[in-house]
Order: sequence, then C-alpha cells, then structure tokens
Amino acid sequence: MKCRKCGGKAVVNLREHRLSLCKGCYIPWFVDYTEKTIKKFRMIDRGDRVLVAVSGGKDSLALWDVLNELGYETFGLYIHLGIDYDGYSDVSLQKSKQFAERIGRELVIVDVEKEVGAGIPELRGITRRPVCSVCGMTKRYYMNRIAMELGASVLATGHNLDDEVSQLLGNVLNWNMDYLIQQSPVLPAKEEGLKKKVKPFCYFTEKQTLLYTLLRNIDYVEMECPFSVGATSIFNKDILNQLEHRSPGIKRRFYDGFLNNKHLFLKDVVNAISLKNCSNCGMPTVNEVCSFCKTRERVRSVVQ
Ligand code: SF4
Ligand code: ZN
Repeated sequence: MKCRKCGGKAVVNLREHRLSLCKGCYIPWFVDYTEKTIKKFRMIDRGDRVLVAVSGGKDSLALWDVLNELGYETFGLYIHLGIDYDGYSDVSLQKSKQFAERIGRELVIVDVEKEVGAGIPELRGITRRPVCSVCGMTKRYYMNRIAMELGASVLATGHNLDDEVSQLLGNVLNWNMDYLIQQSPVLPAKEEGLKKKVKPFCYFTEKQTLLYTLLRNIDYVEMECPFSVGATSIFNKDILNQLEHRSPGIKRRFYDGFLNNKHLFLKDVVNAISLKNCSNCGMPTVNEVCSFCKTRERVRSVVQ
C-alpha cells in the first residue's frame, strides 16, 4: 500500500476518504483536516482565546497539540474528579501537566473534592444519581465557569466521531429530544453566560486520533475511567464499528445526515428552551437554582 501523496510506504488506509497515507503525510493531513472542520462550522476565529478541556486521554491532548500547531491561543483545563481506582485521576493529571509543559502552555487545575467537598465516587452516593450523570454535570459546570472567569471566548473538547455517533444513536433510540437539540459540533454562546463550545475532532474516528497521538509521541493516560466499564456508549460504539466495517463512511453519513436535517424536527424544542441565571452562583440554568449548586448544598448538609 502506497501513500497517495508522496508514494512512500503507507501506514494507514482511510477507507471513508479513499486515502492511504504514510507517517510523514498523515500528520499534516490530520492538522489540515482539523482546520477545515474548524472553518466549515465556524468554530474558532483568529484572536479567540480557546480553553481546551483536557482529561489526560489521547483525544483531548491531541486536540490541544493540533490547535497549538495551528497557532491558536490556547490554555488547558484539567478537572480532577477524585477517582482513586488505580490512581486514575492522579495519573491523568500528571499526563496533562507533562503535556502542558511540553507545549509551554498554561494548565488550569480544578479539584472537585476541594471545591465541592466530595469527589465524583462519593457524589454518586450522596446524590443517588448515576455516576456519569453527576460527573458530566460537574464537568460542564466547571468548563463553563472557568471559561467565563478566565476570559476564554471558546471552549474546545476532544469529542471524536465515535463519541458523537454513539451519543446520537443512544439519543435517537430513546428519542431524547432535549439531548438531541444540544448535540452539535458547535454550540453558540448565550447571553445568560454560556460560552461557545466546539468539537474540532468531530469528523475523526477514535483510531485516527489514536494514530495521530502515537505518531506525535504524545504520552497519554491509557487506562479508561473505571466507571466507563460496561457503559452503553461503549456497546453502541462497538455496534457502529461493525456497521462501519460493512459500509465504510456510514458513521459520517449518519452524523452529517442528522446535522443537516435536525432543524426539520427539532425546531419547536429549540424555541421552548429558556435559560435564566442561578440565584446562587449566577451561572446559566433552566431552574431557579442550578443542578451544581443543589448538589453542593446536598454535600454540605451530609458532611456537616
Ligand atoms: Fe466521568 Fe468516568 Fe463517567 Fe466519564 S466514564 S463521565 S469520566 S465517571
Ligand atoms: Zn448555581
């Protein structure tokens, strides 16, 4: 198999792009394709200050690397979730710090245990909510809040095509309209204090981001979060990979089809959502007090 660009020995065959590339040509292709995606969805402008949410994993560190290579002004945010199993949160923090040093960029660290009074595993017991639900809510809260407080104009996350289509499949199977309306590679800022959110890797598969990470020698945390074991999203990814194997490009067509047509059936839902500011912390919410403040209150009442 030969590289389509230079004729050298190809290391990857991108079936959905009908493109084989060698190591030397894959890295610039990956960086260029990210920039094309950024432009297509008008994700980031020159002059934007971009907060990159990093978990220490391959996708978020690769994203930070690419945005840095493209010359955007970036800084990172690591949220320490207090997940002790096999030192998961500590190891992830260490990888994130190492990478920030490597590219010479600032990394902001938020420690959930210190901020809220309990880490994510304890919050699961206190709130009696599914662990990923309370974790997701906490991460979204801090990402938005830190972006506001530190003057970022855009918040970037490393979600890839596999993340997006597995989430889409789950939401379509359950016809979860509230979540479907919020699924997009770019969510605009809102006056009530929601920062613009972008996913520049939304067209790359997990394998493609992994290959970029390996070829760039990025040291990332290889273990998965212990709470992800048995998650529906992983089962959905597996099914979608089987579909992709039979029909190359099906994931991309599923995703693009949704993005191109969602306005047809989600219009009324969009108009129905109205945000206000939390009476306690001032952050945007649909209720009088936001879910994060309610959770923190609950922790205080249990711990005191
Ligand atoms: Fe949080 Fe782990 Fe669930 Fe991801 S898998 S949302 S990191 S608890
Ligand atoms: Zn609040």
